[in-house]
Amino acid sequence: MSKERVYNFSAGPSMLPLEVMEEVARDMVNYKGCGMSVMEMSHRSKEFASIIETAEADLRQLMSVPENYKILFLQGGASTQFSMVPLNLFRSSKKADFIVTGSWAKKAASEAKRFGTVNVLASSESTVFDHIPQPDPAAYSKDADYFYITQNNTIYGTRYSWLPETGDVPLVSDMSSNILSEAVDVSKFGLIFAGAQKNIGPAGVTIVIIREDLIGFAPDSCPVMLNYKTHAADNSLYNTPPCFAIYVAGLTFKWLKDRGGIGAMEKANREKAALLYQAIDESRMFRCPVAVQDRSLMNVVFVTGKEELDKKFVAEAKAAGLVNLGGHRSVGGMRASIYNAMPKAGVETLIDFMQKFEKENQ
Ligand SMILES: *Cc1c(COP(=O)(O)O)cnc(C)c1O
Repeated sequence: MSKERVYNFSAGPSMLPLEVMEEVARDMVNYKGCGMSVMEMSHRSKEFASIIETAEADLRQLMSVPENYKILFLQGGASTQFSMVPLNLFRSSKKADFIVTGSWAKKAASEAKRFGTVNVLASSESTVFDHIPQPDPAAYSKDADYFYITQNNTIYGTRYSWLPETGDVPLVSDMSSNILSEAVDVSKFGLIFAGAQKNIGPAGVTIVIIREDLIGFAPDSCPVMLNYKTHAADNSLYNTPPCFAIYVAGLTFKWLKDRGGIGAMEKANREKAALLYQAIDESRMFRCPVAVQDRSLMNVVFVTGKEELDKKFVAEAKAAGLVNLGGHRSVGGMRASIYNAMPKAGVETLIDFMQKFEKENQ
C-alpha cells in the first residue's frame, strides 16, 4: 500500500484495487494510444465496443453465467432495480414473496407494493435485523411471480448462508454488497442485481443478470428505459451507458481473473472475515450483535455497547489511517466493510488497532 493511501472500510462507494486505479490513471488522458480518455469517447466507437464486450465476457466467465442469461449494464443504482423488478416481473398473479432482512429489502418491498401484492414471509425487524429469518417453505406462494431476497445486508452485517428453494418461482437477489465475493450458482436465480460501488467499481453502473425467459413481459405502460427488454435488445447500448464506470468495472473483472477468480477471492474473504470475527469474539470490549451463522463476509458490524466509546474508537482509528469505520447512520456502532479490494494486511492492522484501543481504554 502506498504511503498516502489509507485503509478505507467504507461500505460504499468503497475501496477499489490499487492496481485498477493505477491503470486508470496511466490511461486517463490517452486510452491505449487513441489520444483521448474513455470519458471522452463515443459509446459507439470500436474502442468502447471492445471495453463493454470484454467486461461482459469476463463477468460471464467469473460468475459462470449460463448462456440463457443476459448481463446488463444499467444506470440508476440498485434502488432503481427496486422498481424495475416489479415493473417487469409482475405478470400473472402480480404477487411476490419477500424476506425482509433490512432497510434495502424494506425499500424494495414498498416499491413492489406500487405494482402488485407483497407477501412478507418473514422479517427480522423486531430484533434490529440481527439474523436472517427462515420462513417455513410451506408458506411460500406457489403462484408468486417472484421471490425476493437481499443476500447480504450491508447495514446490519448479515448474509444468507442458504437459499430458499422456490421451485418454478424466479428467485430475485439484491447482491449489491456480496457480488463477486463468493461463488454463487447463477442458475438458481431468475434475476440478480448489484450496484457497482460496493465491490466492483465506481458508482454509476448497476449490473443486472437476468434469465432470458423473464424478459419481455412488462406492461405497455412501462417506461422504455425501465424495461429490461430495451437494454437486452441493444446489449446495454440503447442509450449512452455509464461508459467510464463500465470501463473501471471491466478492469476490476480482469484484476479478479488475474488473482484466480471467485474461488480464490472467496477463500481470501473467508480468511479476512474469520480473523476479524475471532478478534471481536475474543475481545472483552467489542461485541458483534449478529447471529453467528448469519454473519456477513463483507460487512463486519461491532459495538462496545457505549456510544461515547464507539465514537472515540472511530475517531482514533481514523487518525491511525483506518477510515470510515462508523456504523450506518441508522444503527451506529462500528462497521468494517472488507470487500475484495481490502487486503488481509488492512484487516490485520485493524485488529492490532482494536487490541491497542482495548488496552488503553479498559
Ligand atoms: C447500497 C445498497 C443498495 C442501494 O444502492 P444504490 O446504488 O445507492 O441505489 C441496495 N441494496 C444493497 C444491498 C446495498 O448495499
